[in-house]
Amino acid sequence: MSAVFWEKEVETLCREKLEALQLQRLRATIDQALKTPFYKKRLSQAGVLSGNDIASFGDVRKIPYTTKDDLRQGFPYGFLAVNTDDVIRLHTSSGTTGTPTAVYHTRDDIARWANLCARSLAATGASQRDVFQNMMTYGLFTGGLGLHYGAELLGMMVIPSGSGNTPRQLQLMRHFRTTAVHATPSYLLHLFGEIEKEGLTLSDLCLTKAYVGAEPHSEGIRRKIESLFGIDVYNSYGLSEMNGPGVAFECIAKECMHVWEDSYYAEIVDPGTLEALGPGREGELVLTALTRQATPILRYRTRDLTVIEEGQCACGRTHRRIARIKGRSDDMIIVNGVNIFPSQIEAVLMRVPEVGTNYQIYLDKQASLDRLTVKTEVAPEAFTGEFVALEKLRNHLKHLLKSEILVNPVVELHEPGALPVSTGKAVRVVDQRNEAYCG
Ligand code: ADP
Ligand code: ZN
Repeated sequence: MSAVFWEKEVETLCREKLEALQLQRLRATIDQALKTPFYKKRLSQAGVLSGNDIASFGDVRKIPYTTKDDLRQGFPYGFLAVNTDDVIRLHTSSGTTGTPTAVYHTRDDIARWANLCARSLAATGASQRDVFQNMMTYGLFTGGLGLHYGAELLGMMVIPSGSGNTPRQLQLMRHFRTTAVHATPSYLLHLFGEIEKEGLTLSDLCLTKAYVGAEPHSEGIRRKIESLFGIDVYNSYGLSEMNGPGVAFECIAKECMHVWEDSYYAEIVDPGTLEALGPGREGELVLTALTRQATPILRYRTRDLTVIEEGQCACGRTHRRIARIKGRSDDMIIVNGVNIFPSQIEAVLMRVPEVGTNYQIYLDKQASLDRLTVKTEVAPEAFTGEFVALEKLRNHLKHLLKSEILVNPVVELHEPGALPVSTGKAVRVVDQRNEAYCG
């Protein structure tokens, strides 16, 4: 296997040197974090007063974890470590989970992030000969701009098509001979279904590679996309708290994702006890960004479940790999790449007096895309059986939900007592999405 490197020296650094670099950068990051109101307080409570308090990786446990709630509480400036004059970009997490979390970037932060994305793309054999169509949403969501900057740095011709408008995506792919795309796996399956409808065949396209991320998907889905399109599909992992895409990426070996360890310190912990778990044991991924200036975030609990794989990758990179994300340790659901907590849906439903007590969130696939259905009972006093009144309520709920979760749900109204009641913990989310495709 002949691997292509973007920065061979860093990517193949021996473990000893790589770990020394991590430790040195971790200390510098702590010093940077101490400039933020949040960490000034949090770290001093933990007795960490300077980066020098971390003599070895054994001392990392002195650093408290950071959670999404901490980031929310610190919104908007609690995690800012530089003067606002030095900030050139702001991103927020999908913005769908209540109070958003803000991540700021200096010019150097953006340059380093773009470099990691270029490195990630190069690891899949991409080069300046590729035409890259970025079908991720541009904007606050990091999926769009993140890989965009990396692809430009690599020298690919970038088509910033953004998400949606499938006929136009296909037109662009055909006209400009797109060779690589970036999208959610569900969107690519949808796109495939539309090729024929647009009167096209695969031979009208020049696609060779796709980068998929932003939502959990199985190896089965990857293989399905690969065989439908006849291309290579690479898994891309990232989260806005850690920049976005470019945290961990598959290389040409397509066996797990290299975490760029010169820039991130990765740990796996038991989500219940928070005890550190060694390589090969599945748990929650905890990440520390090692080079960020504007928003240093230490030991961030991603809630994503995975395993650190031991062993050398065939490509020759020394950076350790994580397995495909198995799921989440909290109840967040991801619908076509958008993060939603069931509690957000519940909060909307409970604001409307005509809504009864029982509801269910049902997820399945329609033409390869995720479909979210909110099934709710109508309160007995509001259940007149009159069609116009029920239709009005249904539309009202659809509108309220859309503005809260940013995803267009199907709303189903049911008679009082019609939805299943569970005797134990209520089963609020029924996820049938994998049933359809993973067989
Ligand atoms: P973004 O705005 O980039 O989606 P968020 O912070 O809103 O970032 O969402 C990040 C989350 O998306 C991750 O914590 C993870 O749960 C999910 N995610 C991102 N990439 C992948 C992937 N390749 N496989 C599985 N889940 C992913
Ligand atoms: Zn590799």
